[in-house]
Amino acid sequence: MTRIVHRTLNKRYPVAVGGEGVWIVDADGRRYIDASGGAAVSCLGHGHPDINAAMHAQIDKLAYAHTSFFTTEVAEELAETLAADAPDGIGHVYFVSGGSEAVEAALKMARQYFVEIGQPQRKHFIARRQSYHGNTLGALAVGGNAWRRRQFAPLLIDVEHVSPPYAYRDMQMGESPADYGQRLVAELSDTIARLGGENVIAFVAETVGGATSGALVPPVGYLKGVRELCDRHGILLILDEVMCGMGRTGTLHACEQEGVAPDLMTVAKGLGGGYQPIGAVLASGRIVDAFARGTGFFQHGHTYLGHAVACAAALAVQQVIRRDRLLDRVRVQGRALTERLVARFGQHPHVGDIRGRGLFQAIELVSDRASKQVFDPALKLHAKIKQAAMDLGLMCYPMGGTIDGRLGDHVLLAPPFIVSDDELDMIVERLGEAV
Ligand code: PMP
Repeated sequence: MTRIVHRTLNKRYPVAVGGEGVWIVDADGRRYIDASGGAAVSCLGHGHPDINAAMHAQIDKLAYAHTSFFTTEVAEELAETLAADAPDGIGHVYFVSGGSEAVEAALKMARQYFVEIGQPQRKHFIARRQSYHGNTLGALAVGGNAWRRRQFAPLLIDVEHVSPPYAYRDMQMGESPADYGQRLVAELSDTIARLGGENVIAFVAETVGGATSGALVPPVGYLKGVRELCDRHGILLILDEVMCGMGRTGTLHACEQEGVAPDLMTVAKGLGGGYQPIGAVLASGRIVDAFARGTGFFQHGHTYLGHAVACAAALAVQQVIRRDRLLDRVRVQGRALTERLVARFGQHPHVGDIRGRGLFQAIELVSDRASKQVFDPALKLHAKIKQAAMDLGLMCYPMGGTIDGRLGDHVLLAPPFIVSDDELDMIVERLGEAV
C-alpha cells in the first residue's frame, strides 16, 4: 500500500511521469494510449505547448486572488468566452473547481432562486436512474447509481428518479425513437404530477449519459419534450454536461444538438482539459436577476473558485479548440471511431450495443447477443477489461452494469480531440484484444 489513499486500495498503480499528445508514459518507460482522456477530461491531449505557455504566463503574473476581494482579467475573459457561445439565455458564469462542485452549486442556485421569488415550498429534485453527477452528497443524491448511493442513503436529500433513455433495451419493437422519447417524457410527467408541479425545483439530467451509463444518447425530441414539461410547471431544467460537454460530442454543448437550452448547465472536465481543475455553472439571466433583486447574495462559495491559473488554462484550451476548428475534427474522428468499432465489434458475440456521439462512444457487453443477457456482475468483467487494457498499453473507461441489473458492463471511449486515424486503429485493436 502507498501512503496515498487510492480509490482501489491494495493495488499497485504504474507511476505516470510524462505525457505527450494522446500518450502517457510511466516510470518504467511504458507508453499508454489515452483513449478515455482520463475520464473524458484531456480533450487536447497531454503537454500541449500553448496551454503550458498560457499557464506559465499567468503564474508569472498572479496565481491566486480570492474572489470575495477581487476579480481577475483572465477569469473575466474566460467568462466572456463561455457566455459568447452559451446556449440561449444562460450567459452568466459561476466558476468552481470541478464537476461535483458545479452540480452542488447548480442545485443550490435552483433552490435559492425559488426562495428569492417567493416559492419556498419547492423542495423536490427529479433526476434519472443510472445517472452520474458526482460524489459530494448533493451530487450523489441526484445521481441514480444504486450501488454508489447505497451506504450513504440515510444522508442524502430525497430525490425522485425516473428512467434514463436506454434505447438498446427499452425501445419497444415497432416503436419509433420519437415515440420512445415521448414515453419517457410521459413517465416524467407522471412523477411531476405525483409530487405536485408547484413543489418541484428542477429536473436534472446528463444530456448524454456518461460515466455510469456508457454514452446514452437521448432519443429525438425527448429533451424538447422535457423542456416543455418543465416550462409548463415552472420547473427548472438543469443539464449536466460535465462529461459530455465542451465539444466532446461534436458541438460545444451537447444540448445544441437537441435544440434545447437549460436554465442551468454544469461544465467541467474538458473545460480546462485536465491542465487545471476547473468547472462552471452557466446560469440564466432570470436566476441571476432574482438573486440581484433579492438578497443580492448567492449563499454558496468555495475558496478556489475562479482561480487565475485554472482560468488561464481553460481560456487557452477554449481558444485552441476554436482556433484549430477542433469541433469539426471531433465530428470527423467520431465517425471514424464509429466505423472502426462497428468493423471490430459489430458481429462480436459479446458486444450487444455500440453507441454514442462524437468522440464519446461506448460498447456494452452481453453474455449472449440474441437474449441481451448481461454477464454475472460477480465476474467484475469491467475491472478485468480495464486491467487487460492497461497491460496492453491502453487507457479506456470500463464500468460495471446495473439499472436494476439490466445494464451490462460497458467500456466508454473519449479520446483527445487530436487523436489521429492511426491512433484510432490502435485503440480499437487493443480494446478488441482486451475484450
Ligand atoms: N457530472 C458528470 C456528468 C460527471 O461525469 C462527473 C464526473 N465523472 C461529475 C459530474 C463529477 O465531476 P468531478 O469528478 O470533477 O467532481
